[in-house]
Amino acid sequence: MTDSSRTVAVLGTGIMGAAMARNLARAGHTVRAWNRTRAKAEPLAADGAQVTATPAEAVRDADVVLTMLFDGDTVLEVMREAAPAAAQGAAWVQSTTSGLRSVGEHAALAGEHGLLFYDAPVLGTRQPAEAGQLTVLAAGPAEGRDAVTPVFEAVGARTVWTGDDGAAATATRLKLVTNSWVVAATAATGEALALAKGLGVDPQGFFDLISGGPLDMGYLHAKAALILQDGLLPASFAVTTAEKDARLIVEAGREHGVRLDVAAASAERFARAAAQGHADEDMAAAYYASFEGEAGAHPRQTTSRQS
Ligand code: NAP
Repeated sequence: MTDSSRTVAVLGTGIMGAAMARNLARAGHTVRAWNRTRAKAEPLAADGAQVTATPAEAVRDADVVLTMLFDGDTVLEVMREAAPAAAQGAAWVQSTTSGLRSVGEHAALAGEHGLLFYDAPVLGTRQPAEAGQLTVLAAGPAEGRDAVTPVFEAVGARTVWTGDDGAAATATRLKLVTNSWVVAATAATGEALALAKGLGVDPQGFFDLISGGPLDMGYLHAKAALILQDGLLPASFAVTTAEKDARLIVEAGREHGVRLDVAAASAERFARAAAQGHADEDMAAAYYASFEGEAGAHPRQTTSRQS
């Protein structure tokens, strides 16, 4: 153990949590990993993580508890079970993308159990998470920063501090604004490609037209490639998770007197794509929400139904 090594409990080892736990273990931290579906956490044992049966067991001797679950309510449920077992003064890094109401609930729960609460959502998807190149947006008390900084350094390339009061949700506010851009860009990519297909326009003609100009963007090419080259599985960011985020963004806007039509329509597109069988695919699969019936199913699914 070096001065910077910590005992870190990772609660939630999905796409993001598993990658973060792995990088923590590889950086020399002692990692206790818990996941509802234990089989998804088991491979982390090969990286030196200890897989626990309960969240309480994971947090018992942790310096830092990292939550990376589906949404704010899931975090509350899991941490209500785990927090009583955590040491007073341990840091809780809450990285799940949550709504503003949830951040307040999490901070209150942390207060009840003497935990130092860090509102710490991340930017970056599967590949940056696996490479330890996330951007961590963080707000939380100065007194625990020495404890959490080595954790942020293991999972991310950059930490952006937005304040010293996690309960104020300044990091989550910035995250929701950024994800409103992600959701809009994803919807715009899917609709442009769907329209191109409907009108018989070669997408390459569209890409060539905007190439190098202010309308061009790397994200368009990344998401378009997933759609056009059958790369929607495994997801970097699943349709269901994107729907959750779009709804959080709409709700946050509504609570602050801001109407967000694009995010609301995007939530409906994600919901429709999920109902068409694309729930676990990358959110780029919202493209299929533009089509009815068989055309809205993934080509792979259509093939298997016909065979
Ligand atoms: P994911 O792969 O779907 O993982 C979700 C995790 O939540 C899994 O560990 C899952 O457990 C757990 N979970 C869901 N419902 C639960 C419940 N009722 N009780 C206990 N555990 C439950 O999602 P992800 O992509 O890693 O995303 C995790 C969080 O990070 C989300 O808030 C997401 O918005 C955010 N995020 C994602 C990305 C990205 O690009 N993927 C980027 C930035 C932030 P099981 O394995 O048992 O289902």
